[in-house]
Amino acid sequence: MIRKCSLTKLNDFFAAIAGDKTLYIPASDGAGGAVYKKWDSNTQYLDVLNTVKSPKDFFFPHTEDLMEFKVKGKNIELLDIRQESEDFVVFGVRPCDVKSFDILDRVFLSEPVDSYYASRREHGIIISLACSKPSETCFCTTFDIDPTEPEGDISAWKTDDALYLRANTEKGEALMALVEHLTEECDDAPVVAQKQNVKKILDKLPLAGLKLDVFGKGKTEELFDDPAWDTLSEACLGCGTCTFVCPTCQCYDIKDFDTGNGVIRYRCWDSCMFSEFTKMAHGNPRLTQKERFRQRFMHKLVYYPDNNDGLFSCVGCGRCLAKCPVSMNIAKVMKKLGGEK
Ligand code: SF4
Ligand code: SF4
Repeated sequence: MIRKCSLTKLNDFFAAIAGDKTLYIPASDGAGGAVYKKWDSNTQYLDVLNTVKSPKDFFFPHTEDLMEFKVKGKNIELLDIRQESEDFVVFGVRPCDVKSFDILDRVFLSEPVDSYYASRREHGIIISLACSKPSETCFCTTFDIDPTEPEGDISAWKTDDALYLRANTEKGEALMALVEHLTEECDDAPVVAQKQNVKKILDKLPLAGLKLDVFGKGKTEELFDDPAWDTLSEACLGCGTCTFVCPTCQCYDIKDFDTGNGVIRYRCWDSCMFSEFTKMAHGNPRLTQKERFRQRFMHKLVYYPDNNDGLFSCVGCGRCLAKCPVSMNIAKVMKKLGGEK
């Protein structure tokens, strides 16, 4: 069942949710992009396709304290210093980013379960938002994601005058109860019309011809020594921007920080594009940028599907296409390796 909320009541809608739970919405970052901000009555919703950094930050934060050690004489005391998560709502998560949570779940929720991530997933409630104007960097359909039919606890579609909402889970139903007075039952004709329009755009997007049959399970031998990796990786600066904006990259480092009054163990995002990534006592297993570059794309297109029932570790969000300083990206890699119709 679909309900609608007039856009004239959008602030009331946000206020009703924020009155009960912490709410985050896309807002201006002041530099031409969008970031998720905690909603208050001064927060202006920004209707953009992608936030600069993806919403994975809510579940797998850029930096996170894990525990504290206190040394007393010959004893070490271990303290669990995590903040208890409270329920929170993230509004406006695009269909590609919603799908990225499935990819992260397979990493963090498989044994041994990452309790930090699991707690945030449990407390997070996702209101997704269908795409009405996909951009030329979008290729989510390559990965079988339908940008007109987003998953999440509540699916939302925004037209010129209303927000259409459908609860998909118990958490979503409970949230819909909070905004019931601002919404009304309606027919889904405007949603159907929007879907039809978007489908026409999707076929014409520049990356609509990308295909996956040369990638996936069992393709390591065919692709690993392809000479194309030399030219593809030549300009890569190893800056890691592509990994930091990516909703599915999940590598991290764990470090200790001496506060002078104990030691805090924390983790922070890392990147396989960095020269020190996975450095061990004997040195680094990947000595050249070509090897590091190849690792990132082989992981997304071959190794991850090899270990995860064929699921690819890219959702076609297009962030790396927009942000790489030397204009290198996964779509170019796929094309060069034979992934174009
Ligand atoms: S591919 Fe681009 S964004 Fe990624 S590390 Fe290389 S230069 Fe940086
Ligand atoms: S590899 Fe690029 S297009 Fe794919 S999910 Fe990551 S940032 Fe998005």
